[in-house]
Amino acid sequence: MRIGIPRALYFYSYLPFWHTFWTKLGHKVIVSPLTNKGILDHGVKEASTDLCVPVKVLHGHIAYLAAKDKVDAIFLPRMVNVGTKATFCPKFLGLPEMVSSAFCQLPPLIVPRGDLGNPWRLFDLCHKLQRQWAPEGSVWLAYRAARSAQNRFQREIEQGRLPMDCLHNYTEDVPNHDRRAIIPSGGALRVAVLGYPYAVYDSFLNGNSLKKLHKMGVSVYTADMVPLGEQKRYRRHKDLFWHYSNVVLQAGQVLLDSTLKIDGVINISNFACGPDAMVGKLLEFECKKRAKPMITLTLDEQTGEGGINTRIEAFVDMLARRKDGAHNLSLHGQFSTGFQTVVCRTRPRGDCPTASQQAHS
Ligand code: SF4
Repeated sequence: MRIGIPRALYFYSYLPFWHTFWTKLGHKVIVSPLTNKGILDHGVKEASTDLCVPVKVLHGHIAYLAAKDKVDAIFLPRMVNVGTKATFCPKFLGLPEMVSSAFCQLPPLIVPRGDLGNPWRLFDLCHKLQRQWAPEGSVWLAYRAARSAQNRFQREIEQGRLPMDCLHNYTEDVPNHDRRAIIPSGGALRVAVLGYPYAVYDSFLNGNSLKKLHKMGVSVYTADMVPLGEQKRYRRHKDLFWHYSNVVLQAGQVLLDSTLKIDGVINISNFACGPDAMVGKLLEFECKKRAKPMITLTLDEQTGEGGINTRIEAFVDMLARRKDGAHNLSLHGQFSTGFQTVVCRTRPRGDCPTASQQAHS
């Protein structure tokens, strides 16, 4: 049987597990191609208008797999949780219904419930899938191979590789050896690019931001590179409700406090994303506390590469100037004058020395 896996949402975190699992059970896995304009346009057309762009992109990938009899079934798990109290966002929970109501004709959807409080629940889920979709296969062998593929993938990411470089074993992508150079920390500037994996690693969606930073000689660090154990040290009194949001927030704090000496943070956010409204604000607080500059790039289906390039260039330029000693650049709404920091919002505008100096200059 040919099982289609859309290159969106959970793909960037769990593809090695599910690809290996289905392959070991004797099925052929077909992964949709890299996001492109056709896929995005198709997704926008099929999906409801008020959805976030990553979910629209998922619709586009589903449309690609469903067209022309490419696959016999599409694997679309309902991801609920992966071992923490936090769940995936409500749109993940309702994906199967959303997708089946958006399309008139679809191959059968394989929709297991990913409520994975512990590894045995995952095994149980695999067992159910095997009984239904591959009664001849050995679930234990498939499960073990899938676990080791996933562990290997996670180790590689934590060592500083990007998912795109590790996942080409599971897709038909041509490996791009150039991209490996994005991560090594040789760049003069170090920037944490924080956001959900399906926005940070989908280069069409984010206007090729990582490659752009690489070309500018910036070393990039993402949330997935922070081991889970370290992230947990930064749990809040009250965590957020959503899994990926907690990962971004906790990993962001680890990176900001690490010996890497991060120069700034690029927050990749998605228009119409509810959880992002909280994550963006909390990240901003954390950056302010540590006097680190942060910029938010909000993605939607209209976002053009030109606009993203301009903002990234301006941000990197500002970081470079700060690093060269120009510490009087405005940061988080403050103006720094020498050793003294003046918060203009607390004074009438005319009394602010920096503001009046600027007015006269
Ligand atoms: S977390 Fe935000 S971007 Fe991700 S699926 Fe949910 S609403 Fe969309």
